[in-house]
Amino acid sequence: MANHRLVYLDSQATTKLEPRVLEAMMPFLTEDFGNAASRSHDFGWAAEKAVDHAREILAASLGGKSREIVFTSGATESNNLAILGAARMYQGKGKHVISAATEHKAVIDPLKRLESDGWEVTWLDVDDKGRIDIDQLRASIRPDTTLVTLMHGNNEIGTIHPIAKIGAICHEAGVLFHTDATQTFGKETLDVGAMHIDLLSASAHKMYGPKGVGLLYVRRRNPRVRLEPIQFGGGHERGMRSGTLNVPGIVGFGKATELCLENREAEQARMAALRDRLQQRLESELDFVRVNGDQENRLAANLNISFAYIEGESLIMGIPGIAVSSGSACTSASLEPSYVLRAMGVGDDMAHSSIRFGVSRFSTEDEVDYAADCLIAAVRRLREMSPLYEMALEGIDINSVQWQGH
Ligand SMILES: *Cc1c(COP(=O)(O)O)cnc(C)c1O
Repeated sequence: MANHRLVYLDSQATTKLEPRVLEAMMPFLTEDFGNAASRSHDFGWAAEKAVDHAREILAASLGGKSREIVFTSGATESNNLAILGAARMYQGKGKHVISAATEHKAVIDPLKRLESDGWEVTWLDVDDKGRIDIDQLRASIRPDTTLVTLMHGNNEIGTIHPIAKIGAICHEAGVLFHTDATQTFGKETLDVGAMHIDLLSASAHKMYGPKGVGLLYVRRRNPRVRLEPIQFGGGHERGMRSGTLNVPGIVGFGKATELCLENREAEQARMAALRDRLQQRLESELDFVRVNGDQENRLAANLNISFAYIEGESLIMGIPGIAVSSGSACTSASLEPSYVLRAMGVGDDMAHSSIRFGVSRFSTEDEVDYAADCLIAAVRRLREMSPLYEMALEGIDINSVQWQGH
């Protein structure tokens, strides 16, 4: 890539494939290339056996059953299948679903599709930390509500929703509950029974597995959830998702999950310590910074922070060796400030100056220190050129300034 030092701190976007995962996948990319649906020879049986094994690991990690796992191409597809599939299957009961504005685009966009098809979506408010109001959720459920979809850990700001509470409210009201758990699967405790989860999305590449493979958990008992498929063909995955299974990807997903669970608590603690180290340095060596998200209930790997009087994009250009993402980069083509921060009521100036850091299993203290050094230097350099920062230092309230021409 580049000839200078590179530090990867963008683990909410994707993670590096764990070498032991690749090793487990290799036979299924080479000699064991069978189609898991071929029932008449050894090649097919070997593939089917490997898929079954992965399915068991994945189901057990959620407290579910093998037959409740549907393999997909990733969390985007899982979210589409869950939302469109459930809404359309149960439209006889009603056409109302509930969600929030801080969800991933892979939830928001299928919901918008439903809206244009005649459904009504209630978008719950979030507070300045990205938290929903449980009472508002309870009050929003109506007789025609079929589905609530609320994510577990937020990919931008890291805020973790209280999904056990949300699930209990949904089940009490007889409404299905879907959660996009892409950022927490293999990391936080997940139990579909205790948390009353009916549908759950996850993706391998956010937890050191390969890209292009994900799962949808679909509850089979109390209640049995049925989905209208969004893709048609050979009737794989009990008719819910036709298409030849990605056998090497599924094997890798299973292995990645096994490795995450083996060491889950220690790894979470290590990542949180690295994240806290970074946060502590930025907060102690720079003024006018603000951490976005809920610092009490947050992804261990996530730090989203705004540096007032600086443009996130300029800052990123000032730290070429550090791979992070800016609050405005998510809707890639545009430089709109993050819709997540906006929904939280963060002003456009602070939203434009936000940076998301994501540590991972492979991050080191040395890398975090190097990133902090680069960042602090870049922020100081940019602020030296900022008249607004000068004014702030002098205690002038910028919002009270009468700008010329206004
Ligand atoms: C990455 C991500 C997705 C999309 O997952 P893909 O497997 O890349 O399609 C969906 N939801 C959340 C919360 C994510 O972080």
